[in-house]
Amino acid sequence: MNAQEIMSSPLVWHPQTAAEAWLLKQSYGFDGLYISGGTLLRTQWESGVSAIPKHLINLSTIRGLNEVKIGESGVIIGGQVTLQACRTNAFLQRNFPLVTDAVRAIAAPSIRHLATIGGNVSSLVGDAIPALLAYDAEVIWYNGAIEQRAPLSSYLLLANDPAQGCERLLLSIILPFTRFKEENTACGDEEENTISKIKHFGAYHKVGRREAFTPSIVTAAILGAISSAGVLMELRIALGGGQTLPQRLERLEAEIVGAAVDHQLLQQAYDCILQEYEPREDLFASSSYRKITAANVIAAELWKAARD
Ligand SMILES: Cc1cc2nc3c(=O)[nH]c(=O)nc-3n(C[C@H](O)[C@H](O)[C@H](O)COP(=O)(O)OP(=O)(O)OC[C@H]3O[C@@H](n4cnc5c(N)ncnc54)[C@H](O)[C@@H]3O)c2cc1C
Repeated sequence: MNAQEIMSSPLVWHPQTAAEAWLLKQSYGFDGLYISGGTLLRTQWESGVSAIPKHLINLSTIRGLNEVKIGESGVIIGGQVTLQACRTNAFLQRNFPLVTDAVRAIAAPSIRHLATIGGNVSSLVGDAIPALLAYDAEVIWYNGAIEQRAPLSSYLLLANDPAQGCERLLLSIILPFTRFKEENTACGDEEENTISKIKHFGAYHKVGRREAFTPSIVTAAILGAISSAGVLMELRIALGGGQTLPQRLERLEAEIVGAAVDHQLLQQAYDCILQEYEPREDLFASSSYRKITAANVIAAELWKAARD
């Protein structure tokens, strides 16, 4: 490294607490940047999308953020937990398989060993986000005074809104143990008191321009429960991909829960996605291509759930 390179290298700070990290960010403003695994930032610097800042605030030294903890009401994933650690965590694999499926489809193993789940969420377009949204994930973030807890869906909207001000310091992600309805539920005509068996279904899809190691065009996560009569009892759908801010399709969910999955419902779901979902276009795919892809993926999953 020559003298000029040394002079232009960023200073790297190693805060021990969220408060220290926050203060550093406040002190350096636009000259300072939070960094976790640095895998996304590196691509931005190397491609010239953004310049290397003067100060890097290394979040990996903040204590207590690189563990997956199982609490009474949910799992808390520290923001510094690597994608590889998420992918191989047996508890997450068993209880939140869409998350481990999503993480497995991100980049390559060498990158997943460095990249963190906090960095993926903080990028606001990470491919893990739709899977987290489908589980009603919440986040804990530091606001300069206290640790705040908020649904991931509203956190994304806030963090994406320049009018809301500064970058947020994300600490952890919580996956609640919310249960869908019981396996056997009395439903239908009360006098007959029929017992209907409820089946749970779920899937995560990443559609890219090739099978693996590819940027996403669409990412889709769906979780639901369906009765033996083919009636949708519960449903959560989340979409993202490319540079689109991932979102839950709450209007569609509300519209079709309680209805039987038939041809008409599949058409309704398909049409609603075309209307409700507004993906961003980029050099890889147009907005309408992404919409149609998302609508096909979700309609196919609903059809499979009913057929099975
Ligand atoms: C070859 C390659 C392929 C890739 N493929 C994919 C892919 O398929 N899907 C995908 O989703 N991503 C992909 N990525 C991008 C990246 O690896 C992941 O999104 C990763 O999870 C980012 O995590 P990180 O810890 O490296 O984040 P960093 O690069 O450290 O940070 C990302 C952004 O988040 C901010 N940040 C980080 N942590 C926090 C925090 N705790 N609080 C607030 N702000 C924070 C940083 O300032 C930065 O703006 C790829 C990257 C490479 C190099």
